Amino acid sequence: MIQKIKGFKDILPEDIGIWQKVESTAKSIFESFGFSEIRLPIIESSELFKRSIGENTDIVEKEMYTFADRNGGLITLRPEATASVVRSYIQNKMYAKDPERKLYTIGPMFRRERPQKGRYRQFYQINAEVFGIKSPLIDAQLILMLTNLFEKLEVKDVITHLNSLGCPGCRPDFRRALIDFFKPVSDELCKDCIRRIDKNPLRVLDCKSPSCKKAVENAPVITDYLCAECETHFIAVVDTLKKQNIPFKLNTRLVRGLDYYTRTTFEIQTSLLGAQSAVAGGGRYDGLVKVLGGPDQPAVGFAIGFDRLVEIMAVSQKQKESCIDIFIAALGEKSSTIAYRWICELNLSGIKAEMDFSGKSLKSQMRKAGKLNAMYVAIMGEVELNDGAVIVRDMKTKVQESIPIKKFIESVKDRKAA
Ligand code: ATP
Ligand code: MG
Repeated sequence: MIQKIKGFKDILPEDIGIWQKVESTAKSIFESFGFSEIRLPIIESSELFKRSIGENTDIVEKEMYTFADRNGGLITLRPEATASVVRSYIQNKMYAKDPERKLYTIGPMFRRERPQKGRYRQFYQINAEVFGIKSPLIDAQLILMLTNLFEKLEVKDVITHLNSLGCPGCRPDFRRALIDFFKPVSDELCKDCIRRIDKNPLRVLDCKSPSCKKAVENAPVITDYLCAECETHFIAVVDTLKKQNIPFKLNTRLVRGLDYYTRTTFEIQTSLLGAQSAVAGGGRYDGLVKVLGGPDQPAVGFAIGFDRLVEIMAVSQKQKESCIDIFIAALGEKSSTIAYRWICELNLSGIKAEMDFSGKSLKSQMRKAGKLNAMYVAIMGEVELNDGAVIVRDMKTKVQESIPIKKFIESVKDRKAA
């Protein structure tokens, strides 16, 4: 038997309810905050990710699914969405009429990581990105929108971590301080980090290896190196969040795994998924639109790990079982023909109605109704047909009622509306 590929998964009908709930809640909140949906290709040219995420990051060095296309050009299954959203913002000249744009997108991402709980090779993200707004208020508003989504979904056990990564003006000083700090203790770092000390020392701060985590404990902190503008911006974000009573925790170690971030960075973390603690992450990336060939426009956004969010929701809540409105147990050919007409009419008016298509006995049809969690069962055999009435049983109270055939559809609709 052919099996699915390692690190990939099926999302089965019995689990889809929670995915749909997250998706519809996110869409409705994002749209109230002025965001529009954008749908993008899942394959882009490899260069896009190399240039935006950064050459010396885990994603680009180890995790990308990159293939030679038939004409030899290198293409990559997207490992994240921001680069594609920026590419589209530039390519479609979205900035021309008004550089301010608020976009969201939902879809699969691909990273060749070691599969484990909360970590897959195809996973889903919900992304929101804002272009053209420099004000720290928008950083705070994005965090408000994100935490509001978690609240509406009744997700508990999450903490918002907040930091600033400075800008190309002040980060070089911090970089140098990090290099000076790591060089003498380099034998305590993992192989990747030793290699990255000179090229990209910030990555060491984000390394998951226990030895690097330990070595990082006394490293310099970025907030001591911020320039005046970055500091003012950061204080404004912090003050706004405080004024709005949005809970957060300052975390000067938070650097995030992608190179394009500037200034505000944040991550929503949970203790419910073991080592996979990040449920969402984001921040400002003021330089990226220009780096990718667009105008000099600021940007800020976030990505929610959809799979992880679903997993923590499943831990903290028991989802309601799905059910149907009515099951029509019809006996005999004549009754079945009428039942078929009825279920179609009910389905077309938005009512979940089902029947049996294989001539089963009343007993086994009742069993099927039970499995489908039917709220009502209508029983129609030859006797009922001759009497011109159907028996409708409320499956919870077990109360039965005889309904004239002519009034059946109307009565089901009335029950549904009640
Ligand atoms: P981590 O530190 O756990 O590797 P990350 O920093 O690489 O996460 P981002 O690139 O910021 O993750 O992606 C945003 C979110 O996507 C993460 O917070 C996480 O919830 C989710 N995510 C990232 N990688 C995976 C994966 N392989 N499987 C499932 N979800 C993932
Ligand atoms: Mg990662």
